[in-house]
Amino acid sequence: MIDIKFPDGSVRSYEKGITPYKIAESISPRLASDVLAASFNDVIYDLERPLNESGSLKLHKWEDQQAKSTFWHSSSHLMAEALEALYPGIKFGIGPSIENGFYYDVDLGGRTITEGDLKAIEDKMLELARRKESFVRKDVSKEEALRTYTEKGDEYKCELIRDLEDGTITFYTNGEFTDLCRGPHLRDTSVIKAVKLTSIAGAYWRGDEKRQMLTRIYGITFPKKSMLDEYLALMEEAKKRDHRKLGKELELFTFSSRVGQGLPLWLPKGAALRERLEMFLRKVQKAHGYLPVITPHIGQKELYVTSGHYAKYGQDSFRPITTPQEGEEFLLKPMNCPHHCEIYRSKPRSYKDLPLRFAEFGTVYRYEQSGELHGLTRVRGFTQDDAHIFCRPDQLKEEFCKVIDIVLYIFKTLSFDEYVAQVSLRDKTNRDKYIGTDENWEKAENAIIEAAEEKGLKTVVEYGEAAFYGPKLDFMVKDAIGRKWQLGTIQVDYNLPERFELEYIGADDKRYRPVMIHRAPFGSMERFVAVLIEHTGGKFPLWLTPEQAVVLPISEKYNDYAKKVCEFLNNYDIRASIDERNETIGKKIRENELKRIPFLLVVGEQEEAEGTVSVRRQGEGNKGSMSMDAFVSLVNEEINNVTK
Ligand SMILES: [Zn+2]
Ligand SMILES: [Zn+2]
Repeated sequence: MIDIKFPDGSVRSYEKGITPYKIAESISPRLASDVLAASFNDVIYDLERPLNESGSLKLHKWEDQQAKSTFWHSSSHLMAEALEALYPGIKFGIGPSIENGFYYDVDLGGRTITEGDLKAIEDKMLELARRKESFVRKDVSKEEALRTYTEKGDEYKCELIRDLEDGTITFYTNGEFTDLCRGPHLRDTSVIKAVKLTSIAGAYWRGDEKRQMLTRIYGITFPKKSMLDEYLALMEEAKKRDHRKLGKELELFTFSSRVGQGLPLWLPKGAALRERLEMFLRKVQKAHGYLPVITPHIGQKELYVTSGHYAKYGQDSFRPITTPQEGEEFLLKPMNCPHHCEIYRSKPRSYKDLPLRFAEFGTVYRYEQSGELHGLTRVRGFTQDDAHIFCRPDQLKEEFCKVIDIVLYIFKTLSFDEYVAQVSLRDKTNRDKYIGTDENWEKAENAIIEAAEEKGLKTVVEYGEAAFYGPKLDFMVKDAIGRKWQLGTIQVDYNLPERFELEYIGADDKRYRPVMIHRAPFGSMERFVAVLIEHTGGKFPLWLTPEQAVVLPISEKYNDYAKKVCEFLNNYDIRASIDERNETIGKKIRENELKRIPFLLVVGEQEEAEGTVSVRRQGEGNKGSMSMDAFVSLVNEEINNVTK
């Protein structure tokens, strides 16, 4: 007999060799029909894989990420089976699950697949799914695996097998299709009830642009048809909110092929928005004791060799810039930290000087392949709302708490109401790969956990996700339509202080190394504005929006009064303009609402006679007429309520 421990702490005994599925059945038939995968001692298992030793077991239903990834990964096998049936002789690269769905990279051998072909593949997948084909696992020797794929003529799989160790190789078969795979998979294909193949793209084999270009087919599947419908509706809404589309419509930013790919150009309205965000953060940071610094956009290669960034970014990054006479080599700055370390080193520091918090809206440049670029979220030049805190080890927790305060204040002000903080700690078993002493790591990890607890954060702890140089805390926010975005990050660093030999003099006159915290609550201005556009659908909060009000004269006769109103509002720092076009008032209202301007102020004969404006609020409709003073109070009150 073996003892199986469940997440609630209870333990049950079973025959050796029992499967997770049988265990689910023994608990309830309902559970058995809902469960899609299992974790045994934190490793994901097939439901049909026998358990031969005691251990802890989690049964995953659709809600769990492990269930979804098993479901979607199995679906990639189902798609491969359908593809092989429809396109005999096709060769396969890799077919993993991704955050939303799955893909498979295939070599069609000269044939092509277009959007028009996807429906037939979906239908084939559903037909095969209904056959209730089991995913059957088989251990194979390396020799046998190689022989199978050599006979099949699939050089991609052969290459993958050559990199594997004998004794660890498994095949999985569903219906007519066999794949090299580690698993795990669903019990059978019948739970896949809804299929949508979403797009086709090109992808180099193993991401190497010198190698074969394969066809990547993306898809998503669900255990219920209604889930697919919901998902497609969400995608429709996401399309409407796409920051690339809205950025253009609202004239916030643009790209120019002459300036270069991945290098955003901020238009006046976008620049105004970004500037206000910066001012907002500068104010918060000032209140929290940050000291603004400014550093150049390039630095000598040596600087990044010292910091270790050259090893990380140097090889595949932009080429160095050399001076014509002196032969100096400069690199575009990939990170602000090395520059800030040099600022720390500019004079001797005492324990009494710490913490020191250097803040900079620092623009950095990182090479991204052109195919990876995406609107403002993947760019080649971006500005981080960066800061580096240099502190003593005993100050870590307090500094962490303060950074969390700033992040939460930002979330609240910009109405990101749902967020989770991910605490990334060391691997529990392999501790050699981390730099810094055990004692320091423990201190830092505890500081993060305690700070997160003290601030009441909803956290998930991930072991093994820490960087080699320190643990970190990442914030994931949920936007208005439920999508998750990674935003701010707070990261402890023992590495750079070591590399730059940073020191402070302790109370005992001895020399000590400070600890460094990297933090960027927005992440970058570009990414944050993109997320904000998609979160708000372009309806920015009143304090932030580029245009707060537009005055709409009913006819040209009232243009002069409209100008008077506009000037009055501008004098009170309300960002207002006039729509003087000779159009009907109905058309002007509709078009300005599309521009997401919060207040439309209609003026005509009555308003001019009474010195008032007729107010329409975006999303709320008519608010009636009021004096200009009353309108100014209305605006200021709404702003003060949010940003206080
Ligand atoms: Zn698989
Ligand atoms: Zn940094």
